[in-house]
Amino acid sequence: MAQAKNIRGGLLAKILTAVLLVWAAGLHAQGEVHIQPLAGSVYLITGPGGNVAASIGEDGILLVDDKFEKVAPEIRRAVASIKSGPIRFILNTHWHHDHTEGNKVFGKESIIVAHENVRKRLMSPTRTDFGARPALPPHAWPIITFDESVNIYFNGEKIEIRHFDHAHTDGDAVIYFTKSNVVHLGDIFFNPMFPFVDLNNGGNAAHLAEVVDQIVATIPQGARIIPGHGPVATRQDLIRYRDMLKATTQLVKKAVEEGQSLEQIQQSDLLKDFASWGEGFISTRTWIELLYRSLTKQ
Ligand SMILES: [Zn+2]
Repeated sequence: MAQAKNIRGGLLAKILTAVLLVWAAGLHAQGEVHIQPLAGSVYLITGPGGNVAASIGEDGILLVDDKFEKVAPEIRRAVASIKSGPIRFILNTHWHHDHTEGNKVFGKESIIVAHENVRKRLMSPTRTDFGARPALPPHAWPIITFDESVNIYFNGEKIEIRHFDHAHTDGDAVIYFTKSNVVHLGDIFFNPMFPFVDLNNGGNAAHLAEVVDQIVATIPQGARIIPGHGPVATRQDLIRYRDMLKATTQLVKKAVEEGQSLEQIQQSDLLKDFASWGEGFISTRTWIELLYRSLTKQ
């Protein structure tokens, strides 16, 4: 009996230690914002929240997304290690706060550009599968919006900003630095993971494969591709992601058409060949749910 208690006690201590280590790592990670040159004028800024692209050059500084408010000072420090001066433009790939909350800080000095629906979402309280999100203050709202596309000529290159509808949300933009040959896909691309799709705000998991297929067709060879989350990718990585989306969508669609319930599909081994994609942010179980809800409009 005493021995059993000891074993249990030892196990408990191990679990507690593991929990503390993960917690400490999380705290540490919050202070980790790094900048690195990527290609041409474009730098990559990593750390908590979505990946950030920075165009830094003669015309000044432009950011694609700006993470969380609490790491804005670190983003500023990272950029200033390359070049001093204000951040002239912020482009938001979509409204989620892990990509836009820095607007609360940078919006006082920068011109924020985004799809019209990003402005709409940031102006009022919103809800996702992860809970309620408050509105951002007026100075954090985009002041230039677009419906389909807009170009910015900055640091010696054309930056093409193009909207793709009903993908991760209803306000997604893809940003292409044409001379540096870098593309930021926002959360249309989680690399290499099943993506989160915001069905409460116009996203459609079952439509995502088609959107990524359209994007693949526009991306030149040799382009560096920045996903919303995960490491920088090649065109080949994006094609692999598209193929996963196509295949898993087809499998779940067929099961839905055969009359299977969400629980039945989740309990089957339908997506067993794609298990590694479920080890990131979104589990296989949740990905099936996102596809099921998109296919049945639930
Ligand atoms: Zn997102």
